[in-house]
Amino acid sequence: MAAATATLSPPPIPVGLLACQRDPLLRELATTAVSCRVSQSPAPPSNGREGKKKKAAPAPTAPLLEVILHDTIIFPEGGGQPSDVGILTSSDGEQWDVVEAKRHGGHAVHYVRLKPKQNVDDALRLFAPGAVVGVSLGEQGYKRRLDHACMHTSQHLLSAVLETRLNVETLAWSLTAAPAPCYVELARGLTPEEIAYVQEEANRLVFEGRSVHVEVEELDPSVKVMSGPSVGIPSDYTGGVKRTVVIDGIDRNPCCGTHLPSIHNLQLFLLPNTEALARSTTTSVRLYFLAGPRLIAHLTSTHTLLTSTAGIMSCGAPQVPERVQQVVDERKKATKRVEDLEAELAAVLADEIVSAPPREGGALVLHRHRTDDSANPLTFLSAISTAFVNKVTEKDSAKPYLVVLTSSPSAQASTSTTVVLVFGSDDKKVKEAGDELKAKLNVKGGGKGPRWSGKFSGVWKDAREGATVASVLESLTF
Ligand SMILES: [Zn+2]
Repeated sequence: MAAATATLSPPPIPVGLLACQRDPLLRELATTAVSCRVSQSPAPPSNGREGKKKKAAPAPTAPLLEVILHDTIIFPEGGGQPSDVGILTSSDGEQWDVVEAKRHGGHAVHYVRLKPKQNVDDALRLFAPGAVVGVSLGEQGYKRRLDHACMHTSQHLLSAVLETRLNVETLAWSLTAAPAPCYVELARGLTPEEIAYVQEEANRLVFEGRSVHVEVEELDPSVKVMSGPSVGIPSDYTGGVKRTVVIDGIDRNPCCGTHLPSIHNLQLFLLPNTEALARSTTTSVRLYFLAGPRLIAHLTSTHTLLTSTAGIMSCGAPQVPERVQQVVDERKKATKRVEDLEAELAAVLADEIVSAPPREGGALVLHRHRTDDSANPLTFLSAISTAFVNKVTEKDSAKPYLVVLTSSPSAQASTSTTVVLVFGSDDKKVKEAGDELKAKLNVKGGGKGPRWSGKFSGVWKDAREGATVASVLESLTF
């Protein structure tokens, strides 16, 4: 697409020499358009990096344009560094959102998502070859770039210190989306002492304020320079230059990213443990790190979490772990005590039922309702039934029984659930009672053998639902 327009406007500056790579602190630039077309895909392509993870692209919300400019300060994804976002301003003053920029061969392609009031015809006219275009990062784009630059330059520093001080090579790295920490992948784990040592060494260099510069040389097309999984020159790169990012006296690394001019102020924080990766073929670990605005954001959020937890526990921040442990221990003891008391109470209630007066003819048929805010009231009703059956067996009583237990929460509403348990000496009678409760009270449930359980939804009233249970029991014959 560029070939057809080359006579009308200066050709695009190749990736490697873009304004964002020559001067990463530049926030605005005036340039000219080289080409503009409507993108064939609804979403910006991902260069295959995340393609496997992504689900099917959502339906396009608005047309997407592919704009190539003579020069740009919007960095196209590369070297492990994600794309910038930014704004294009056309000659009529209209602002266009760049949602992503990608490198295609040696060119940076800007993906412009049209706003509802913008249309394709205007865009094609305003970004015609040779048209004057303003490029800026905007407030949001600049914050994003600064964060990426801080994390990327810190990664170079961290990898250099790991290699020179501990002889540990960086296998890969990831500039994860903010605010999560980024990580380097290493062939072995590090002890807390090693991590502290690396952090100290890196920050010693930070305090020295070592400078960062980029060396550019023409790339011999016959030689492929590959030096690591994320820092080599991509095989489809056609820009013709090799960039080497140099941290004065510390590191030299081929890289296309946008780096800060100095590591001054780039204080590095390493999360104090490496995380082992569960992969069957290789053993590697991740070492997470933070720097720049992301470190400040991390400190703010962790401080807020700790302070609010300390407030809940009514203690100072340093006492939080001890207080939380205390609460967990107390909770365990309280749970145990509730279980013990429930077992004791179940036995008492079972005693009361066993001793209740039987019907004429000897059968013990009755209903007991409970109010209980337990998370699982059926467990307690089951405990009563088990204790009851044990007592009946002890007494070696042959008299038939059928018991209905119900349990409602203390505050009832239309969404409340009352648990129903039926148990008896005759499986057929249990089923019959369950079927009747289903039919007359709309209890949903089922059972097998001597046990039937179900749930009633709504407000349970003794004079209404309780009376219905009584009539169901009366209709059963023994
Ligand atoms: Zn890099």
